[in-house]
Amino acid sequence: MKAQFGLHLLELTQGDITLQEVDAIVNAANSALAGGGGVDGAIHRRGGPSLMEETRRRFPMGCPTGDAVATAAGKLAAKWVFHAVGPVWLGGHRGEPDQLQSAYRRCLELARQHGCHSVSFPALSTGAYGYPMDLAAEHALHAIRQFFLDSPEAPALHVRVVLFDAGAYAAFARVLETLLA
Ligand code: ADP
Repeated sequence: MKAQFGLHLLELTQGDITLQEVDAIVNAANSALAGGGGVDGAIHRRGGPSLMEETRRRFPMGCPTGDAVATAAGKLAAKWVFHAVGPVWLGGHRGEPDQLQSAYRRCLELARQHGCHSVSFPALSTGAYGYPMDLAAEHALHAIRQFFLDSPEAPALHVRVVLFDAGAYAAFARVLETLLA
């Protein structure tokens, strides 16, 4: 499913984020940037050890929740990996919505700063961090759309959200339909 916002394109697809051929792949990292399972494990496995070497060297203090840092992408078919730290779901009243939106926005700002034309996101926080998929979809797509509306100028950005399974894809597609209605 695709939606155009001025110059910018938002696409939802089902698949494996590590196989995306884009300028930047977003990783669902933890705040220690210590490596983990899920998306993070898959990205480090396919990207190779240079990703962890660079995060250790340049970001020994890790990265706060709601923020993101950029490294080179090693063996991945991308130039950059943006290591984004989404919130752990604690019931929704501890700032999680703002933190999740901030994690998306920071990655989009990094994409701009690094001259990216295309960036792929996983559904941040919806795995080990327990964020309910429907709510995560709302906050993710709201943040992306808001970024597009706030930066209508060129260069055009192609944002692809890569959902791992059919349920996640359906949740994001439902929300995108309501945003377009
Ligand atoms: P978090 O710790 O932020 O919750 P996870 O990596 O545990 O991050 O999960 C985030 C989402 O990414 C989950 O919906 C999970 O199903 C999905 N996911 C796991 N592996 C991949 C992959 N290779 N490509 C795309 N999405 C993935």
